[in-house]
Formats: sequence, structure tokens, C-alpha cells
Amino acid sequence: MHSFHYVGRQLHCEGCALDSLVAQFGSPLYVYSQSTLEDHFSKLDRALAPLDHLICFAMKSNSNLAVLRTLGNLGSGFDTVSAGEIQRAIAAGADPAKCVFAGVGKTRDEIAYALEVGIYCFNVESEAELKRISEIAVERKQIAPVAVRVNPNVDAHTHAKITTGTYENKFGIAFEEIEKIYTRAAKLPNLRLRGLQMHIGSQLTSVEPFRQAVEKVVPLVDRLNRKHGFDFFSIGGGIGIVYKPALESGAAGWWETAEGRKVLTPQLFADTLIPLLRPLGLKILLEPGRYITGNAGALVTRVEYLKKTGKKHFVIVDAAMNDLIRPAFYDSYHEIVPIAKKGGATVSSDVVGPICESGDYFAKDRPLPKVGEGDYLALLSAGAYGSVMGSNYNTRSLTAEVLVKGDKASLVRRRQVLSDIWRDESVAPWQAKK
Ligand SMILES: *Cc1c(COP(=O)(O)O)cnc(C)c1O
Repeated sequence: MHSFHYVGRQLHCEGCALDSLVAQFGSPLYVYSQSTLEDHFSKLDRALAPLDHLICFAMKSNSNLAVLRTLGNLGSGFDTVSAGEIQRAIAAGADPAKCVFAGVGKTRDEIAYALEVGIYCFNVESEAELKRISEIAVERKQIAPVAVRVNPNVDAHTHAKITTGTYENKFGIAFEEIEKIYTRAAKLPNLRLRGLQMHIGSQLTSVEPFRQAVEKVVPLVDRLNRKHGFDFFSIGGGIGIVYKPALESGAAGWWETAEGRKVLTPQLFADTLIPLLRPLGLKILLEPGRYITGNAGALVTRVEYLKKTGKKHFVIVDAAMNDLIRPAFYDSYHEIVPIAKKGGATVSSDVVGPICESGDYFAKDRPLPKVGEGDYLALLSAGAYGSVMGSNYNTRSLTAEVLVKGDKASLVRRRQVLSDIWRDESVAPWQAKK
């Protein structure tokens, strides 16, 4: 489900009208639905109930403290990719013993920090990293829990920038190498070989790549478990969401498109994988990000100008690629709807931001209702990989964020004050003003 819907002509998030939220908090504005976050987490958690499992929310998809608190309160762990994310999770009240630490480039300081706070496991991406973690654990007189990330070499058939499970990319260790690596790792001091991890890509809308990867890797996990005594197998994240007809599918839920086409649901995911995973007798970890946050957020933006060139009708809005980079970065689609519903004919429109880059667009040749200066639009399904990829490009403030629960709304990140953008900068001492 998601909680963005029209009540009469007004687009609401749960019980709050978006026009009153922008009146109160300004524009552009990220709006998150707490009920949607809770619903998505709980659906997956319930579907996996037959397994001993832990969902570690991939916080790189949305790391606002209020989002982390929402999920932490439901028992979620966290998949982190930097010392900063671990600290942020702790700041939101997370238990480090439910945090895993992934990423190909962990520094010495980050490894020491993760050991100090007592994370559940390092997801290790190379043999050099295993050696480094072992050395640091020896220095600190600690035992480091590790899992190696296997690259199962299964094509997830998703966008090139979010495919991770084939030998074309930098992630993990080749399937054929894994057993040798574990044998060598078992000889390194102060490591506890706690499990095996994989993650094949993002925005997967079919269960088939998951089935293929799990079928391929389970016998390997079983052999390694007998040898090394594992606690868990992590099957990663990557469950895709519906971007296109998010609003039309409405209460029917994010997993059914307007045409009634069935895509990946948590139940289908669980029903397919549970029979393959249960015989292992291990705890199963999952690292979903987008599935939990994607449809739980929208970016609201104001129409500043309309501009017609010979060929095109441009709608110039006050949000830009620094607020939401996905269209520029991945050619991704976000459904765009007016927050006050309009009737009448549609106009083929390019929705663009004010930044001096031709990549600064949200939609091209999109049929949209006729809008005017001062109207507001909502870019739906912007809860994942949205504000977290925000930047200060063009000296634009990081966007404000609001969390909604029922008819309550709370500012959960204030709009960045402009002078804070250059607060840490200075001129060199020899640069007296002339
Ligand atoms: C990004 C990432 C995830 C989350 O991916 P989603 O597509 O958002 O579910 C999980 N695990 C790892 C290792 C990742 O890099």
C-alpha cells in the first residue's frame, strides 16, 4: 500500500493535505508516511515468519532519524555502509548488535569503530579486507564477526547502475573462490566466520533472479556451515517497487500495476524462497531498502514558470536534481501529479528544475494536466534514494523533510540554512580582501 491519495480534489498523505504541509513547511518538501513504512516492513516480516529471520533495513535508501526510529521500533536491524551510518543508526536508538556493515572500501578507522560498538557482522568484500579486519581485531584483542559476500554471477536484469550480482562489477567474491577464501580465513586470527552474504541488485521486479541465486548458493552455504559453524545466511535486498501507476493502484497496493499485472509481492517472495532456505536451519537476514521506503515518500514542488519553445512545453519547478537525482542518474521514472486535482486535457510537458545542467529534469514529454505558476506537484515514490542523495550543488539547501502519521505531521529535518552550506569553508590566510 501507500498512503498518498486524493480526498476530494486534494492530495493527502494519510490524513494530511499536502497543500497545508507546504503552507506550513515550505517547498520543496519531502513528505513521508509512517504508516506506509510500518505496513511495508510488517508485510515482509509477517511473510517471513516461518523462518528465523532478521530484516536489516538498508538505511542508505533513506536514513532520516525518524525513518530509522519507525523501523527500529518494529524490531528492524540496519544494513550500514559507513561508520557514519552506524553512528546515525545509534543516534536513532538502534542496537549495534542488530547492525551489519557492508561496502567494498571500509577504512581502518571504520573497522575499529564497528568493533568498538559491537556490530552483528562485517559483510566482507575482498580477501584484503578479511586480513585487515583480522589485524585490527588482534590489535584490539577482540573477535570480529565476518561474513563474505558471494557474487553468485546471476543477472538480475535491472538497470546497469544497480546490478551487482555479476562478474562485471566490483562487488563480492566470485562463487568459485568462496570455499578457498573461507578455508584461508579460518586460519586468520580473531575472526569468527559467522555466515555468508549475497546481494544481487536493486529494483528487481521478478522473483526469478532471487530464486536462481538462492538455489545456486544454498548448497554452498550448507557445506560452509558444516565446516565453520555459521549463524546466518543473508540474501541481501533488492525487492523492487512499482513506480509507474503508483497513485492509480491506490489502496490495491504497490504491487499491482494499473493493468492488474502482478509483480513481486512480499508473499510471493517469501513463498518462493522459504522452502529453499528453511532446510539450512540458519537465521536468514534480509537487507531491503527501496521496498520499505520507496513508495512511502513524495517530493512536493512548486511550479515557478511555464515556458514554451518551438517544440516543447516546459514546466519549471523549484525542486532540482540536487533534491532528487534519480531521473538524471538512472533515467528513472517518477509519477508526477498535481496536489490539487485538475480536470481537462493533458499537455505533453517536460518538468525541469532550475539547475544549470540539461540533466536537471524530472520528466520528458509527460502528459500532465495543465498547471500554472504557483501550483504544486508531487513526485511520487521518492522515499528511497531521494533525499539521501541530496547535495548542495548550485548552493541550494538540503530539502526539508516531514513525517506524517494519521493527521499529525512533524518536521523531521529542517530546511538547511543557506549560510550553513559554506560554514566549514574559509579563505586562505594570504587572501586578504582587496
Ligand atoms: C543497496 C544495498 C541494499 C538495498 O538495496 P535495495 O534495492 O534498496 O533493497 C542491500 N544490500 C546491499 C549490500 C546493498 O548494497
